[in-house]
Amino acid sequence: MTLLRTIAEAREHVAAARQRGLTIGLVPTMGALHAGHGALMRRARGETGFAIATIFVNPAQFDRPDDFQKYPRALDTDIAFCDRLGVDVVFAPDVKEMYPGEPLTSVEVAGISSRLEGEFRPGHFRGVATVVAKLFNIIPADRAYFGEKDAQQLAVIQKMVADLHVPVTIVPVPTVREPDGLAMSSRNQRLTPADRRIAPALYQALCEAERLIRGGARSAAEIKQGGLALVARTPGLQVEYLELVNPATFHLIETITGELRIVAAAWLGGVRLIDNLFVSFR
Ligand code: AMP
Repeated sequence: MTLLRTIAEAREHVAAARQRGLTIGLVPTMGALHAGHGALMRRARGETGFAIATIFVNPAQFDRPDDFQKYPRALDTDIAFCDRLGVDVVFAPDVKEMYPGEPLTSVEVAGISSRLEGEFRPGHFRGVATVVAKLFNIIPADRAYFGEKDAQQLAVIQKMVADLHVPVTIVPVPTVREPDGLAMSSRNQRLTPADRRIAPALYQALCEAERLIRGGARSAAEIKQGGLALVARTPGLQVEYLELVNPATFHLIETITGELRIVAAAWLGGVRLIDNLFVSFR
């Protein structure tokens, strides 16, 4: 496996792979890799001839400087992780390489970027869409892999790719969970042992909302209340939102008629958790 630190090297390696007739699979990450990232890498390995993972903690997508500072970084173990999974190349640029000067250009996917996560993390999705657009320009991949764990991010990227005619297929990958249901996340390592034990309550609230839907409930307010009642019994877990949304636009749904996502965010100690469930029924 090859570790690359510069944009020029990344372009060269991808061009050489293309010349060999290989399809390119891209897995953008911020590192501190876990089995969730592993699932994306496995898919890329299985579906393309050349899998490239990027590791870059993108300052532009952090709305709070302390979150950027405290974000876990573990490049050496991440490289070993990618190697074990059979990734061909890791591209891990530093901030100066990705942002050599003060940028005046950004990509904004309007509407969807200002709801829910966007409302609680102003500028977050502009930072995400911009860095992913930059990565697509550096690494012209055939397929790019994104986790459903970050469902709103996935929707933002899908809309950006459609609107800008980026010639890449976005592949959504289901959320990988711990045995107790907690969605895997690099931020989980910042939970205290006590908080880690109660963290699955967020997932349980989503499951409760899903259970109500499967049981015939159709009013979002009622379903939301059922999910929130469950977390209300968990001291320490402060829910920012729990909502039912259209999976593509992230508009709130009031009455359930078809597919939807139940999405939630909560604070636990100083750590912010997000999770969601896709629900489809006839
Ligand atoms: P991050 O390093 O957190 O920016 O995540 C990089 C990619 O991995 C994103 O597309 C995430 O949605 C995805 N990802 C993170 N956690 C999980 C998980 N538990 N299951 C599936 N994909 C995940």
